[in-house]
Amino acid sequence: MDPANIRKVKQLLSDKDQPIAIVTHTNPDGDALGSSLGLYGFLVLSGYTNTRVITPNSYASFLRWLPWQEQIIIADQNTEAATAALLGASVIFCLDFNGLSRVNGLEEPLRQSKATKILIDHHPQPAPDFDIMFSETRVSSTAELIYDLIVALGGENVLDKRMAECLYAGIVTDTGSFSYACNEPKTYEITARLIALGIDGEHLHRLIYSTYSADRMRLLGHCLSERLQVMANEGAAYISLSAGDLERFNHQEGDTEGVVNYAMSIENINLAALFIEKEDHVKISLRSAGKVDVNLLARNHFNGGGHRNAAGGKSFDSLQETTKRFENLLRNGQV
Ligand code: 5GP
Ligand code: MN
Repeated sequence: MDPANIRKVKQLLSDKDQPIAIVTHTNPDGDALGSSLGLYGFLVLSGYTNTRVITPNSYASFLRWLPWQEQIIIADQNTEAATAALLGASVIFCLDFNGLSRVNGLEEPLRQSKATKILIDHHPQPAPDFDIMFSETRVSSTAELIYDLIVALGGENVLDKRMAECLYAGIVTDTGSFSYACNEPKTYEITARLIALGIDGEHLHRLIYSTYSADRMRLLGHCLSERLQVMANEGAAYISLSAGDLERFNHQEGDTEGVVNYAMSIENINLAALFIEKEDHVKISLRSAGKVDVNLLARNHFNGGGHRNAAGGKSFDSLQETTKRFENLLRNGQV
């Protein structure tokens, strides 16, 4: 981490009573929540008791065991409190996203807020929306960066089991249990230190990955048997889900998390997509292997972005038109 930036952060944190906010991206995932709650734990245990975590919207039930989540302000359920927390903060940590377009309704209050905005993130091409930027695209997860930040701030002795659980959740989910973005030794060094703090990796893995509802499991079966399209010539596969599909399986927040990875698990497939019909748009998740760049595909064609091998976006065409457009882009070799 850049020492000059660390010095600035140390200076900013000289007042322990100041209001501090931590914000994540929309549809916060394991890394967004794990890194934010890990940082929250560190700040509160270090004496910054006037700290809050704010998420633009709610999150999956398989993350509802994370320590300190009861204090999260979910902005679309509690807009007034979220806005007040942002406008009243003197420092805002922006975690696991690279531009203010990623926070939906919080964009306006974030722009208005006079707070010093500190970005800590691992997505490429960050927008110039922040005062201090820790943008490191080689790391597995924002959780790794929070570990580094805590150490750089001299807070290693504050780290405890609960913080370790949060950061471990971030690393495990952003690497698909160490199956991608996992070639840096440092990821394992940090993980080893988290394990040494007493966490039960096996138990946490079950909490994250083995707590499906029966409906969620049946929806997955439906995706794989009825909704999977394989484009063998293009080395691509995709799954599309209509609003009717979601309704049939009593869809809950987070139920489609990880579905796109199944399409990636087919032999010779190096690009996978998941299309989900929402009220006023189609939500798109993209995954790839190797040099296939889905960040560019999302940026150029689907109003989104992300990492080279994991990105997402939106389409305002119908579900059918969207998948047709996707197929044509691949057939025409535009990926
Ligand atoms: P997921 O498919 O799991 O929703 O997202 C995969 C990755 O793409 C994540 O790193 C996420 O931050 C990013 N991503 C997802 N949706 C969007 C989007 O609409 N815009 C941008 N810029 N990034 C996205
Ligand atoms: Mn992340």
